[in-house]
Amino acid sequence: MGCAISPILFVTAFEVILRGARQVVGGIRLPSGERLPPLRSYMDDITTILQTAPCTTRLLEWFDELITWARMKVKAAKSRSLSIRKGVPQVKTTFVAGREPIPQLAEKPLKSLGRQCTADLSDRQMGKQAKQQLAEGLAKIDQSQLPGKHKVWCYQHTLYQCVMWPLKICEVPMSEVRRMDSLTNRYFRKWMGLPRCFSIAGLFGWNMLELPLKSISLGYKQEKARLVLEMKDSTDHLIRSAKVPIRTDRKWKAPAEVENAISSLQHKEVMGSTQTGRAGLEWAAPRQFWSKATKRQRKTMVVDEVTRVEQEHFHIKPISQGSQEAWTRWEATVQRCISWADIWRTPQSRLSFLIRAAYDTLSCPRNLTQWFGSEVGCPLCSTTKASLQHILSGCKVA
Ligand SMILES: [Zn+2]
Repeated sequence: MGCAISPILFVTAFEVILRGARQVVGGIRLPSGERLPPLRSYMDDITTILQTAPCTTRLLEWFDELITWARMKVKAAKSRSLSIRKGVPQVKTTFVAGREPIPQLAEKPLKSLGRQCTADLSDRQMGKQAKQQLAEGLAKIDQSQLPGKHKVWCYQHTLYQCVMWPLKICEVPMSEVRRMDSLTNRYFRKWMGLPRCFSIAGLFGWNMLELPLKSISLGYKQEKARLVLEMKDSTDHLIRSAKVPIRTDRKWKAPAEVENAISSLQHKEVMGSTQTGRAGLEWAAPRQFWSKATKRQRKTMVVDEVTRVEQEHFHIKPISQGSQEAWTRWEATVQRCISWADIWRTPQSRLSFLIRAAYDTLSCPRNLTQWFGSEVGCPLCSTTKASLQHILSGCKVA
């Protein structure tokens, strides 16, 4: 631990053994014409994919001999094997490593880097697992004695990141992600002291009031867009040519969205630096152009574009909602961005008041009349159906 040279020494020595073992068999040929190496490794973890069972047996025997010569040992119990014949997983074929049989994937599923590998080679259970992890985590945070805003912070900085990883690497459909979102939103509303009818556009949209919260579906879309680019622009030519399909949903297809984002960025370049706002010429920061950006900058640009498209939905959604779209008609109002530092400074009840005031969901007489049908008026001037504006700044008596 902590030694900078020992991992390098280990990898160098291990590479000698791997090269020795690779000479026995040839790798598998991909449909694109590329040939995969028979053994692929990361530190001391090795994966091998071969066409026939005798080939695998020969490779394992030879590898075993080499590893024994290097005074190391293969742990068969920690390894898994899977044989497929004509698309159907086989149970009969067993392989041996270090004189012990390797357990089959069908008998013992394996968890590697957060992904559960089973014999049916599907990620269907991963979505359910991620949802369960989220539900358990949210319930645990909810049970704690912390104030509501602390609970939100706990979720956003710990649980959110844990859930995001399986969503990125596994084929989890968008519908499952939406279900996870609605589960989280229920807790958000409870913790922030907001009514149940409060719109998600208010929670996650960058509207007149911008909260430092991020929805799971937005994170999912960003991660999938990143994954598409990572696969397409990988430095490894095998990954590039493998053309790994990234499946999401029928409604939101990651590769198509990335293509749209790229064409939109190229279109913006054709338009050039245009003036936005009233700040004056050359006042804004110089715009980044697609053709001049590096690979890393392009990735950020595409993710930003995906985020922008998602934010547009939060601008469109309120139009169809009765009372919570009041902010869309505000003129000359400066957008207010609330950071975590602001949240720590503001008392919980005032924060809740601020959010509810921005989206007109406070219990003013007009809303009370609408919600419960009770005829209450302004306590000072007894105007019936007095709106929030009347209570805050319009009442003549006050
Ligand atoms: Zn009044």
